[in-house]
Amino acid sequence: MTQKIAILPGDGIGPEIIAEAVKVLHALNLDLQLETAPVGGAGYEAAGHPLPPATLKLAQESDAILFGAVGDWKYDTLERALRPEQAILGLRKALGLFANFRPAICYEQLVNASSLKPELVSGLDILIIRELTGDIYFGQPRGRRTAEDGHFPGAEEAFDTMRYSRPEIERIAHVAFQAAQKRSKRVTSVDKANVLETFQLWKDVMTEVGQQYPDVQLDHMYVDNAAMQLVRAPKRFDVVVTGNMFGDILSDEASMLTGSIGMLPSASLNDKKQGLYEPSHGSAPDIAGQGIANPLATILSAAMMLRFSLGHEAAAQRIEAAVQKVLAQGLRTADIYSEGTTKVSTAQMGDAVVAAL
Ligand code: NAD
Repeated sequence: MTQKIAILPGDGIGPEIIAEAVKVLHALNLDLQLETAPVGGAGYEAAGHPLPPATLKLAQESDAILFGAVGDWKYDTLERALRPEQAILGLRKALGLFANFRPAICYEQLVNASSLKPELVSGLDILIIRELTGDIYFGQPRGRRTAEDGHFPGAEEAFDTMRYSRPEIERIAHVAFQAAQKRSKRVTSVDKANVLETFQLWKDVMTEVGQQYPDVQLDHMYVDNAAMQLVRAPKRFDVVVTGNMFGDILSDEASMLTGSIGMLPSASLNDKKQGLYEPSHGSAPDIAGQGIANPLATILSAAMMLRFSLGHEAAAQRIEAAVQKVLAQGLRTADIYSEGTTKVSTAQMGDAVVAAL
């Protein structure tokens, strides 16, 4: 049966990097129907909204979404609801994309690009699983008011609410344990149970769900310690599962261990395995239109899409092997270039991956 993919290039380098991922998808000769729609600033220009109704409809009807990036400084003066970044929040909410996968893989050829010593990151392969639709980012009530108590009664204060329900924790726990079963069978659950009720429940539920996966080893770590361990001994981790806010911070920390933001894919899935796949980086307006952006994070996002939403594991592996091969050939876009390698453009990198397939 034909599988439908919504292609949402977005802004900045989005269209350039998506074009290369689309080339790769075409080269695989799978039964895929690709349909493109504007999103972010491009959505605002085309239809007055960062997530136009037609784009949302296409996303909802598709098996998966391949997303470039959104955002440009020129939209910073728009009211918040019309800013490009709202498109991502809108898609997460409308599709119930609660499980965010952020692999941090250090490619052997790029080991010197990391800010850590090569021996600490060589062979690094961590998967951070971040809960994406709960926690303090979405908890109600929130707002501003006049303080009635605390250290400064009568002063203006702002407040947010951190909350997680048992089913929310259970479903992300299952995602993490099942992901670990396909890897080295270790999960680290990151919390702040020593201080926060929300994360005591998190820890309790993780432990309970863990009992259903006796083949997976579970350990718990406080978030402050996890932040330290990620730069001290990152290879001690395999699958890391955590809440929305801690995951936001730790996944960026982990991605930078690999030294190359242009290399890292990501996936956000719902309980029907429908997913949004995008590079971990933004729209890079500073280099847009120059043909120098690294398309590999987007190409690797397409591989994740084939694996997690479309059931094409062999094709996903072919893409990943092709990326390894072009790196081994010494081909580099400007962001990962070093002396002795060959600098290529965005399109040349895409062509090289297709050739390596
Ligand atoms: P960014 O990730 O866009 O760029 C950070 C730096 O990394 C820049 O110097 C950029 O040139 C470089 N870079 C990023 N991707 C690259 C690639 N593929 N190849 C080579 N170099 C690359 O982050 P930023 O500058 O903080 O944000 C720019 C815009 O992107 C903002 O409007 C922001 O809101 C938006 N943004 C969007 C997303 C998303 O769409 N999911 C995520 C983060 C930021």
